[in-house]
Amino acid sequence: MIVALAGGVGGARLAVGLAQVLAPKALAIVVNTGDDFEHLGLTICPDIDTVVYTLAGVHNPASGWGRGEETWSFMHALRGLGGEAWFQLGDRDLAMHVLRTAALRRGVPLSELTRALSRRLGVRHAVIPMSDTPVRTRVKTAGGELAFQDYFVRLRCRPRVRGFRFAGAARARVPPPLYRLITGDAVKAIVVCPSNPYVSVAPMLHVPALRGWLRARRIPVVAVSPIVGGAAIKGPAAKIMRELGAERSAAGIARHYGPLVDGWVIDTVDAPLRGRIEALGHDVVVTDTLMPDRCASERLAREVVRFVYALARRGAR
Ligand code: GDP
Ligand code: CA
Repeated sequence: MIVALAGGVGGARLAVGLAQVLAPKALAIVVNTGDDFEHLGLTICPDIDTVVYTLAGVHNPASGWGRGEETWSFMHALRGLGGEAWFQLGDRDLAMHVLRTAALRRGVPLSELTRALSRRLGVRHAVIPMSDTPVRTRVKTAGGELAFQDYFVRLRCRPRVRGFRFAGAARARVPPPLYRLITGDAVKAIVVCPSNPYVSVAPMLHVPALRGWLRARRIPVVAVSPIVGGAAIKGPAAKIMRELGAERSAAGIARHYGPLVDGWVIDTVDAPLRGRIEALGHDVVVTDTLMPDRCASERLAREVVRFVYALARRGAR
């Protein structure tokens, strides 16, 4: 069994490929919940929804978030009533948030309801939130601290970032199915999807049980670089790296993760960085890492799985 760590769009793109290559009992996808927030009385989990919708094939491939074939009557009416309209909630998407919020109020753990709702959408692989208790990413800026969605959506990542804080991570309660994976011996490798290292993967690494697992592991960790040719495919990863003074490249990302990762998958355009990443002590595979469609996701996932098993056989740790 392989565990994949995923944020939103980049995570979902690789996850959908892994799900095509690996049977449901051979893959679990652990998803960031640091982006979650409360809005208009609803609990919204953007990364979980992106992963679940993408696996179910009901996502919007153009935007990367929300559902396809969406309608917007709710937003229209909301605006008409003078409601807060900076966060887009489609009519179909809304059903998810309403059911989730109601279930959480009844005391159903987030992991359980994620499992139930994703099954209803036909998802066969396990999608597990990193925590059943709230973790909220806070963005440190010159003007003070911002809630993540204020920074990401309302202010469109414009404020200059000074750092991040993951409120609730230190006491996060890992869901029982994830705890079983961490403490058992079924998992043979971990894949870090090409998600934003600072806001999608870092919250997971701040959950003590997950961090401890990676640190003490005897299984290989393989990561796919979210930075291709010095830029992010989508989102503020490269902007954040510049603002934090990190080198904006696949090598900069490799240095950022350090010994938490054993093997790196980097894009063909970054082939010249191979030697530098190997010098940091990592194995490197160079391939096409762009995933514009399911075909590309599946092809990359196959390479990742091959790499992972090669490292596992060799006993990378
Ligand atoms: P978010 O939560 O929706 O912002 O998504 P993630 O954090 O999972 O993904 C954002 C990151 O995914 C960005 O840094 C992108 O560069 C990266 N990304 C998106 N699509 C691709 C892709 O097709 N290939 C690779 N290598 N990275 C991608
Ligand atoms: Ca996200």
